[in-house]
Amino acid sequence: MADKTKWAALVAGAGCPMDAPRPASNDRWDLVAPLSVSSLYLTKNQTYRGQCQLIFDSRHVARLDQLSLPEWTSLAADIFTAQQAVTRVVAPDHVNVESLGNVVPHLHWHIIPRYVGDPMWGAPIWRLPLDSMPDTRLPDEERAALLARLRTALAGPVTDMTGVGLSARWVAANRALETEHPSPLYRDPYARELAGDAGFDVLYSMRTASGMGTFSGPDPYLTIRTRFFDDALLDAVRDSSIDQVVLLAAGMDARAFRLEWPAGVRLFEVDRNDVFKHKEAILARMQARPACDRRVVEQDLSQSWGSALVHAGFDPRRKAAFLAEGLLHYLDEPAATSLFEVLRGTAAPGSWLGLDTINPEVLASPFMATYLKKLAQLGCPWKFSVADPGAFMAARGWQATVVLPGEPDANFGRWVLPVIPRTIAGMPRTFLIQATRIAD
Ligand code: SAM
Repeated sequence: MADKTKWAALVAGAGCPMDAPRPASNDRWDLVAPLSVSSLYLTKNQTYRGQCQLIFDSRHVARLDQLSLPEWTSLAADIFTAQQAVTRVVAPDHVNVESLGNVVPHLHWHIIPRYVGDPMWGAPIWRLPLDSMPDTRLPDEERAALLARLRTALAGPVTDMTGVGLSARWVAANRALETEHPSPLYRDPYARELAGDAGFDVLYSMRTASGMGTFSGPDPYLTIRTRFFDDALLDAVRDSSIDQVVLLAAGMDARAFRLEWPAGVRLFEVDRNDVFKHKEAILARMQARPACDRRVVEQDLSQSWGSALVHAGFDPRRKAAFLAEGLLHYLDEPAATSLFEVLRGTAAPGSWLGLDTINPEVLASPFMATYLKKLAQLGCPWKFSVADPGAFMAARGWQATVVLPGEPDANFGRWVLPVIPRTIAGMPRTFLIQATRIAD
């Protein structure tokens, strides 16, 4: 009876060592990071390298069934994020995720990476009571490095690419899904490899952030955007006898390989070096052959990029087609201003420009907050927006037509929602823009 009373007191939270606030470090754990309703700790003992505990923060709760449904949904997302991070960092053969609470009845999960041949392989690790387990703590430096890697992995995939560079693999992942759709709007046979696991990780975490976690097909907007600019770019090149194409922020764009270019087209891909380091290695491995004269220009577009383009063989006296797909929102105001200044000096009259942009309401809408926070966490925050794209382009020397995704010219039978009429003010919007350079 006495034991039962003691247990009831523990369940009720008496002296609970896991109630928040709890110390960031003690003799059992070190804080990795707080998540949404829980915090992740690296356990001191590291027999199972990467072993962590995820402890529910919001209140004292002994068991899963005592959570509200929203609390469980958030905790489930935390468990997923934590396990994914641990797995990214230590690449185990298996992972045990367990909620026991026999010693401390405060809802927590053990995330235990398992390795073939580890001391308890084939069974749970808990043969010994906690206090009699051997002390297998890591040397301080090693432990600090592991903590740092876990923190990075919580934000996104572990790669040597920048967050902004990684955004290119995210949209490539979408092109891979579209290519595998029963009636694809385009086919990109390179996309799956170019995206890699990291591209799909970002795609799915952005999907979760936008509340579409269970949706498994290609994203309608990204798919429409790619097809829209496939058609628009080829039309511009054919209709105006343009033989120079510049893909600004090309990312994992494989149009040089997958579109049918008229003879004599020279195509420049401009992006940062971390992007090309990944892309060129994959394309070489796949023995990809361009359908045009493809030239790679490693260049940060927030700096003056005109001379690097000329150096690669671009002739600014002749018309060209420029495409800046999925670029503008990643730039800050000075970088966007500089981009259009360089374009002014680089694009001869009659040149074509395709681009997409968002309006300021996207950056301010409370409905976008989780999505924008996730982008910032991944290291690729959205910054730049345009309220009136027609006026914006005119002021920079371009005559533009603007289409909203879902409108007849950008629908392709894929836009699933009604299009909000342009006359309704204050709505978050994305614009697909085509423009012709007018003489200064
Ligand atoms: N246009 C490609 C597509 O649609 O597949 C890639 C779009 S991806 C979302 C954004 C791209 O912008 C990345 O490839 C990133 O490296 C590039 N980017 C962002 N800021 C840049 C900068 N300052 N200089 C060069 N590239 C940049």
